Amino acid sequence: MTDAERFEQLRTNCLACTRCSLRQGCQNVVFGTGPVPADILFIGEGPGEQEDLSGEPFVGPAGRLLNDYLCAVGIERESVYIANIVKCRPPHNRDPLPEEQEACIPWLRAQTKLVHPKIIVCLGRIAAMRIIRQDFRITREHGQWFEKGAFSITATFHPSALLRNPQNRSAAYEDFILIAERRAALYGRQRD
Ligand code: SF4
Repeated sequence: MTDAERFEQLRTNCLACTRCSLRQGCQNVVFGTGPVPADILFIGEGPGEQEDLSGEPFVGPAGRLLNDYLCAVGIERESVYIANIVKCRPPHNRDPLPEEQEACIPWLRAQTKLVHPKIIVCLGRIAAMRIIRQDFRITREHGQWFEKGAFSITATFHPSALLRNPQNRSAAYEDFILIAERRAALYGRQRD
């Protein structure tokens, strides 16, 4: 089986997942989107309303803001993989519970293995606390880099948080500049 076939199988299995109760309250399992492999894996916390309805991560206003940042630093959205810690929408957009994250994280691990990025970017504190460190403080530690195994990992503000708190937008822009620089350093040039 090729990696592409493995990934398709993974998606099919994930779309049928009922491992936690979030599936009962959502319209769609939002698996993720992007090329496989990809240079960068962006990880958010979970689908919102628009994402739940469309089945795609980071659509709607937060997704458009993410697109703006990517565009501003010369990264094509189509060239990166985008996923979430949990694939089903938590009710009323609440934070995913630890047991829901625990149930869902094997899907993300399997995705990561096949997407094979050198760079992982956590979008917001929930993803950063899960991927980098439980006591991660997004306001103090965004833009810092952590080397874990084969991955260079960083975190920046979640686009939804930036919509609520625009005062952090310039700091987020600085983070995206660093992400683009790290990508150039690790890959030499952008993939076609
Ligand atoms: S959130 Fe994850 S673990 Fe829970 S049902 Fe959806 S895909 Fe399965």
